[in-house]
Amino acid sequence: MHLLPSSNLFGINSDLIRRFGCHHADYRLYPKTDYFIEAFDAHTYSAWLNHRKTGHMRRPLSLYVHIPFCSSLCAYCHFNQIISHDNNSVKKYLDYLSYEIRLQGQLLKNDLKVEQLYFGGGTPTFLSDIQLSNIMNEIQQNFNLIKGGEFCIEIDSRQMTHLSMLALKEMGFNCAIIGVQDFDELVQQSIHRIQAEDATLRTIHNAQQAGFKSIRIEMTYGLPKQNLEKFEYTLKKIIAANPNQINLLNYLHLPEKFKPQRNIHLEDLPEIEIRLEMILLAITRLIDAGYVHIGMNLFARQDDALVSAQRQGRLHYSLQGYSNYPDCDRIALGVSGIGSIGPTLNQNYCDLLQYYDKLKLNTLPIMRGVELSADDLIRRSVMQALICHSVLSFESVETFFPIEFKHYFATELTELLAHEQAGLLTLDNEEIAVTPKGQLLIISICEVFDKYRRTNQQRRNYSILI
Ligand code: SF4
Repeated sequence: MHLLPSSNLFGINSDLIRRFGCHHADYRLYPKTDYFIEAFDAHTYSAWLNHRKTGHMRRPLSLYVHIPFCSSLCAYCHFNQIISHDNNSVKKYLDYLSYEIRLQGQLLKNDLKVEQLYFGGGTPTFLSDIQLSNIMNEIQQNFNLIKGGEFCIEIDSRQMTHLSMLALKEMGFNCAIIGVQDFDELVQQSIHRIQAEDATLRTIHNAQQAGFKSIRIEMTYGLPKQNLEKFEYTLKKIIAANPNQINLLNYLHLPEKFKPQRNIHLEDLPEIEIRLEMILLAITRLIDAGYVHIGMNLFARQDDALVSAQRQGRLHYSLQGYSNYPDCDRIALGVSGIGSIGPTLNQNYCDLLQYYDKLKLNTLPIMRGVELSADDLIRRSVMQALICHSVLSFESVETFFPIEFKHYFATELTELLAHEQAGLLTLDNEEIAVTPKGQLLIISICEVFDKYRRTNQQRRNYSILI
């Protein structure tokens, strides 16, 4: 269980974060796109789709649809987006996206059952109701969205009316993901994103009224000009709105990598001690309000499907984060989309012109990908078990893979002794058990199993969680 104590700091402090904090991805993707190769192209991808068809057991399908457009640029942005006010370029993109949906549907032929669908961006609700509806129709004509599936869309409260919310529900979406930064005006000015408090709260309310079965709030902390008081105010309002899930995201300042962040001044960012206070305060408030810590700073209401999945050991963690659905083969649609078929990962072209050029040639716009080695698969399953269950039984890994765990991971187990001494986990002859303190620094534990990991010298002074 991931129930964290609500009454103290369970021994975590800024020294511990400086020591074990790492600046790595959240391991939804392993290995990262840096290790994808261009030799994995549309032909390789199609061959893997064929393998999928010849097997006796087929994994269910999941679709990811990338809508890259946004109406203005947020200074904290680290996504693949295009700021656009040009209807023609949006229309052109949607034409090509529709064609890609048809091409993928034709390749999969009778193998079209989709359990999960996710519209991400950019800003999917940048599109008009009619444009979104047309894309959903295209998907429904080429795939079979099964009853009871999970169909999610990221929603921008700044552009969402009650009628549009009803339209989304009518199109088949049943899961809303709504971003919230901070309700304070100064913070919003610093991140170049003015999102009125009442618009956000009304959007949550409208989604509830429209009958969305799940509403997830993506709440960011560690933003410029943010302090504990402002964060607490926003959190209190969000808890009162009673969403199913609240995901606390740490703002990662990487201006050398993400150009928009160069507009954020380093001196405006809260110190690591303040960030730590924010996350601990959030944990306390959320648990006191009846939310359950699923892991990786995701909290869910007691009645949420993720909570029962966690209790029953059915929790999964993959490209879409935590899920109560079994691992799917994921078809990526749209520019820069990342997909996964069997033991492979692939990514579409990130540049619009290259994406269009491939589709003009009737070819899927796969830019690169990777076939995971046996070692990648073992390591990925170890990380997923730690992230989902906080306990890793050596025997469970040995059941699926032909290895003797303690021998195979002798170096890693020695490295983990430092984590054990710091109270992040316990190690014995049979298992690794992550402590509540370790759950907050789980990335640093996973990192030990990451063969591609950066050197210690490249570590930053805070982790992705704190
Ligand atoms: S943070 Fe989201 S809404 Fe803002 S520019 Fe980036 S992708 Fe668009």
